[in-house]
Amino acid sequence: MPSIEELIRTWDGEFVISAFDAPSGAWIFIAIHDRTLGMALGGCRLSIYPTPGDGLRDAMRLSQGMTFKWAAIDFPFGGGKTVLAAARPLSPAAREDLLLRLGDMIESLNGLYGVGVDLGTTPDDMSVIGRRTRWVFGQPSANGRGDPGPYTAMGVHAGIRAACKHVFGAPTVAGATVLLQGVGGVGRPLARRLAADGAALLLSDALPDRANALASELSARVVPPERVYGTDCDIFAPCAIGGVLNERSIEQLRCRIVAGSANNQLEKDSSAERLHERGILYAPDFVINAGGAIAHSSLEVLGWTEAQAAERVERIYDTLAEILLEAARADESPLHEAVRRADRNLERGRTARREKESLKPA
Ligand code: NAD
Repeated sequence: MPSIEELIRTWDGEFVISAFDAPSGAWIFIAIHDRTLGMALGGCRLSIYPTPGDGLRDAMRLSQGMTFKWAAIDFPFGGGKTVLAAARPLSPAAREDLLLRLGDMIESLNGLYGVGVDLGTTPDDMSVIGRRTRWVFGQPSANGRGDPGPYTAMGVHAGIRAACKHVFGAPTVAGATVLLQGVGGVGRPLARRLAADGAALLLSDALPDRANALASELSARVVPPERVYGTDCDIFAPCAIGGVLNERSIEQLRCRIVAGSANNQLEKDSSAERLHERGILYAPDFVINAGGAIAHSSLEVLGWTEAQAAERVERIYDTLAEILLEAARADESPLHEAVRRADRNLERGRTARREKESLKPA
């Protein structure tokens, strides 16, 4: 495992703020990857990591993912992410104090970075952070929008329909079998949307009670977590954890489309090639799961209305449809076209910034 110093030195992002929070024993990492398109925005993940380096690596990877997410969907924000790498479970008081100190750190950045919810944190946590900084989004208060999950589900739903149009010829899941891995904040509202469209649902969750309760609500079938990859379906929607598309799982998959909300679904970029070779369409995660990010940032930073935000989230359909079409023309994984699209938008942003700089009086 490389040292923290080596990890930071070899990263292509702008900078990382690292702090050891002695009272909680947790490490705080705020990784700012790229602000070409605007202020950095990205969630706060709170988790127990084997080592601080694992937490830092996650922060850097997720921050880069945010840069690509904003750029791929051409939205005016930059990539940033916070990881709170705990060494052990935190008491509610220790957790609150840690979040308050994180709030102080974010406030000291004076608008360079804004934080929101990610795995392990909640809208209520954002309210705690919000006691110390203005630069926090997704609070369950009058101004905040709370849980981004329903908007993320809206975007994944749009993306799944675009993938269906591409593969099956019609933009609907009616009659298709969709297997959801994870029925939490995103998976649950997504399952409800898909059921309303007439999809047959297979639900899996590490918490069996969660899967069982939703299955009885939606007349769906439950698949045990260990049987997910070998189960026949049309669409596999990973909505739980990252790294699920790897050498072992891809060989077992029995679906035509992989399209879900989980961040960093591919264990390695080469996993995208293997999916393509196997004739399985992969909807790049950082495009299809951008709905919550689009909605919260547009409502809370850009001051849009709910209708404007929802309309923009639904446009994930068009973005993904264009990516899938270009990828099909080039006979390659959609991952490459999504990355090229992000790179093109970032390059355009850099050119615009250079032009603006050159117009400034000397
Ligand atoms: P969540 O914690 O609310 O739900 C995740 C669910 O997955 C839980 O019910 C958990 O029990 C289950 N799970 C965990 N490991 C599993 C496994 N191995 N097999 C089956 N189930 C498992 O999280 P969420 O907000 O629904 O987010 C889901 C994924 O989508 C995450 O990867 C997250 O980073 C990503 N994402 C979420 C949002 C958002 O708006 N919440 C936005 C973008 C990306």
